[in-house]
Amino acid sequence: MKNSYEKYKEHLQKIADVNYSSAVLQWDQEVYMPGEGAKYRAQQLSTLSGIVHELSTSDELGKLLNELNNDATLSQKEKANVKESLRYYTEQKKYSTEFVIKLTQTISESFQAWQKAKKENNFKIFQPLLEKLVELKKQECELLGYEEHPYDALLNQFEPGSTTKKLKKLFQGVRDELVPFVKKIAAQQKPDYNFLLKHYDKDKQWHFGIDVLKQMLFDFEAGRQDISSHPFTTNFNAKDVRVTTRINENDFREMTWSCVHEGGHALYEQGLNVDDYGLPSGEYLSLAIHESQSRLWENNVARSSAYWKNNYKKLQDLFPENLKDISTEKFYEAINAVEPSLIRTSADELTYHFHVMIRFEIEEGLIDGSVKVEELPSVWNKKYKDYLGLEVPDDASGVLQDIHWSHGSFGYFPTYSQGSFYAAQFFIQALKDNPNLLSEIEKGNLKPLLNWLREKIHRHGRTLKADELCKQITGEELNFNNFMNYAKNKFSKIYNLTL
Ligand code: ZN
Repeated sequence: MKNSYEKYKEHLQKIADVNYSSAVLQWDQEVYMPGEGAKYRAQQLSTLSGIVHELSTSDELGKLLNELNNDATLSQKEKANVKESLRYYTEQKKYSTEFVIKLTQTISESFQAWQKAKKENNFKIFQPLLEKLVELKKQECELLGYEEHPYDALLNQFEPGSTTKKLKKLFQGVRDELVPFVKKIAAQQKPDYNFLLKHYDKDKQWHFGIDVLKQMLFDFEAGRQDISSHPFTTNFNAKDVRVTTRINENDFREMTWSCVHEGGHALYEQGLNVDDYGLPSGEYLSLAIHESQSRLWENNVARSSAYWKNNYKKLQDLFPENLKDISTEKFYEAINAVEPSLIRTSADELTYHFHVMIRFEIEEGLIDGSVKVEELPSVWNKKYKDYLGLEVPDDASGVLQDIHWSHGSFGYFPTYSQGSFYAAQFFIQALKDNPNLLSEIEKGNLKPLLNWLREKIHRHGRTLKADELCKQITGEELNFNNFMNYAKNKFSKIYNLTL
């Protein structure tokens, strides 16, 4: 007879089977599916998510989890798995079927309204649906419960342990230190990056991207890359991880850094323990930790001078028509140009966080009622003026630019900034732990860094909280000063600023 832990494991793997089958369908939808397939694909995905909800909230699972929660014979890892599964189970049980149906329906209508509103550049089309959605999200906060701020309940869904209070402290640092630092940068002469906007052949870029992934040690026997309109990473198990990229022939930056970014996400997934498939110990820790992996490779590695010391010559040989007269230094400065802009997804490494901070402040206000949905465009535009010094010309490039709210994802945005701040803190530690790291990166050897990430982060799966992991690795919880020091160090040199 199987013991309870075996039964629990089997149940979780069944949920994973259905979840990852959905992921295959979603991946296909973005990469290959012909447009006309959309209707039934949506139906298939909704059926599968219904099955997952049933399995995840079944009484059978509840009984097993409660029994195992009191089982003193379990190993440390087994205990951690049961604890995390019980947390998730308890959370899921708080939703009534009625609420789930109402929310799913409203999200689907909101998404359509948002698409139309963005296309027609008219916030009013989205407004009534967004009002409905915000009301439901407020109900969700009450239903899930919280200790201090209702918004905490939503933050927790994406980043367990994250609170409004902690985020306020992080963004206080952004406001007090990063905003004035970027102002100083803006007063200096901008690096010339026009050569990055010349014509870069599509095929050559694709092959360069594949080489970039190979150098990062992305395992092509356990993954592949395809093209999609929005780059993303997904996985079906640790031995089958998919990344996508997009190529802009008139902007070299787009493919290269999205390749590295998604590659960073993918290395994390490939580094998870495949034998723990479906169990928390075989899953990524949290969204912010996932993002820390992509940002570490994208910014701390692929936007560093060390990385290009080895790689720039290869790039010059590939595109001599654009780069033969550009020195490595000029290239490095160009890829690190800082410039306030309207669109979050194309923002530079520093001003990116102003975009996130604005969304965080707005979400907090929407949930506690201090910001009304109808005021959103004006609130948005004022914040862009205050933090980025920009006039927002219209709603499409302003308040309607992101998909998240139409999906009902409130509390997601902060994980992007948390991810970058974790990345800086982890990378500083990696350099301390491994004094040869930079010189290896200069030689094009990324293995020592990957080994460090595998050992310190990937192998743990979701057996501990992000705060605990960070403390275990760096000796302290997430601390904005680490990011700020990294930023000051790097950008003062590029912009000739004295500290
Ligand atoms: Zn990412």
